[in-house]
Amino acid sequence: MESWDVVVVGAGPGGSYAAKTAAELGLKTLFLERGRYAGEKNSSGAGLGTRWWRDFPEIMGKLPYLSSYRRIDMIVIKVVDEENRLRLVQGTTGSDRDGSRWSGSLDKGMAGASIYRSDLDPLIADLAVSAGAELRTSTLACDVIMEKGTVRGVVTEKGERLRAEVVIAADGAMSTLARRSGMRGRWGGGCTLVPQIDFVCDEDKLDAVVGNAEWCWFGPFNGAYQVNFRESFHLGAGKWLRPDWDTRPPDMLRRVMEIPAFQKFCKVVEARPREYQAHLLPWLKKPPRTYTGGMMLVGDAGGFPCPLDGEGIWHACMSGKIAAETAAWAISRGDVSEKALAEYERRWKASPLGLEHSFGPEFVEIWDHSIFDPELMKRLIQLILELSEIHPFSVLFDWSDDHVSCLNRHLEHLFDLVPEFSEFGERYIKPLGAAVSPQVVKKALLQAKGKLPLLRLLPDQTYLRALELLNRRLGSRLKEAAGR
Ligand SMILES: Cc1cc2nc3c(=O)[nH]c(=O)nc-3n(C[C@H](O)[C@H](O)[C@H](O)COP(=O)(O)OP(=O)(O)OC[C@H]3O[C@@H](n4cnc5c(N)ncnc54)[C@H](O)[C@@H]3O)c2cc1C
Repeated sequence: MESWDVVVVGAGPGGSYAAKTAAELGLKTLFLERGRYAGEKNSSGAGLGTRWWRDFPEIMGKLPYLSSYRRIDMIVIKVVDEENRLRLVQGTTGSDRDGSRWSGSLDKGMAGASIYRSDLDPLIADLAVSAGAELRTSTLACDVIMEKGTVRGVVTEKGERLRAEVVIAADGAMSTLARRSGMRGRWGGGCTLVPQIDFVCDEDKLDAVVGNAEWCWFGPFNGAYQVNFRESFHLGAGKWLRPDWDTRPPDMLRRVMEIPAFQKFCKVVEARPREYQAHLLPWLKKPPRTYTGGMMLVGDAGGFPCPLDGEGIWHACMSGKIAAETAAWAISRGDVSEKALAEYERRWKASPLGLEHSFGPEFVEIWDHSIFDPELMKRLIQLILELSEIHPFSVLFDWSDDHVSCLNRHLEHLFDLVPEFSEFGERYIKPLGAAVSPQVVKKALLQAKGKLPLLRLLPDQTYLRALELLNRRLGSRLKEAAGR
């Protein structure tokens, strides 16, 4: 029986990056791919954000030489109303930046890329092979070798038994290895189905119309993305696979393709549909169990895609890197038990990947109750149009770091602006306060009361009187403090 330090299953971004890292750490590494070559299934975007420059510069530096590459500086959001009218076109921040330098700062904007998976996956697989890993294509892993509850290797469709100190399962959303090892069954309601159409078009015309931007379409339908490549683009939309599923997947895209502004765009760039695909994408509140004795799950197999926007390639590479480093650490200690591999979870939770998932339930709730809820979007459009005035989409599509760090950076930026406006506000806005009617103030106070569970018990009049008293007390206290 063949024997390896690490056997990685899957040569998608997660598997290849794990194989590269393991080989660089001196481990005897084999990685298996069921396709005839890595990236044979050109299944997703891929739009890659600014943080790629921080974490995977060796990949970003090579992308411009690949045929499908488009440099991306911003995300353009198109908001459509119930009558299918385009109501807003808004770009997220994008400005003077040097794309070859990692920048986590808001004022540097985005410096990302769009690239076909048929270009990206072979690139990362080649890096792994150059580092010394062996790649076997057209090889399907169909089972794990289990001994006393620990994974000891994998079995291929051809019946080969490949022994490994550690197995890294990077076999995508359906992960045969996760299921065969008993780590989990189906995803339940946490997985989305993402139908997508690949359009080919005129390169010069696409340049003129989209420039260096990804597009998103929001409105009373399942929000859709448009990832723009050199001479083509992908239009895709997603939805959670729940028991109340009632949609034919192509209908999600048809709804967007009926928007007159989209049709005009297609006409101008001479777009022709080339391929229809529908793939699964785990979109979870948090990754479930990601390790067992002798095996770790990475990328989609581990449920790592971003809980806010479903981006998953950075997450696959990052978890692949951490899994391979943990494998090297565990093998060097001669202990690959479940207890030892708990180190994997500790490490990814402490990394930017863990930060990405620290508000997973909240992020999923936001998306579930906005972009993926066509009925609610009918009512939210006006609010979105008004909120867009203060640029909320920058926060959503700032891919320079995990979303919570980005949100804080944006807030910090807003607070930085406050002093500049305070003098203006004091002098010109404050006097307008006298014009706010007592009824409006009362309504606002009563609405605020509804959000505080304890105060809800008080009758409205008592609540308002209590506020009045508090106000007087505080007022006199503040005066006292000022006089001291
Ligand atoms: C339509 C769509 C659009 C998306 N757009 C974006 C985007 O723009 N940006 C972004 O960051 N993310 C995007 N994602 C998410 C992203 O594609 C995934 O998160 C990412 O591909 C996960 O990488 P992975 O290596 O874990 O798995 P995968 O990319 O699924 O790779 C798994 C690999 O394992 C192989 N394999 C599977 N089973 C076996 C087996 N038993 N034996 C051997 N080989 C096997 C497969 O052939 C495949 O090559 C999108 C997803 C979808 C579905």
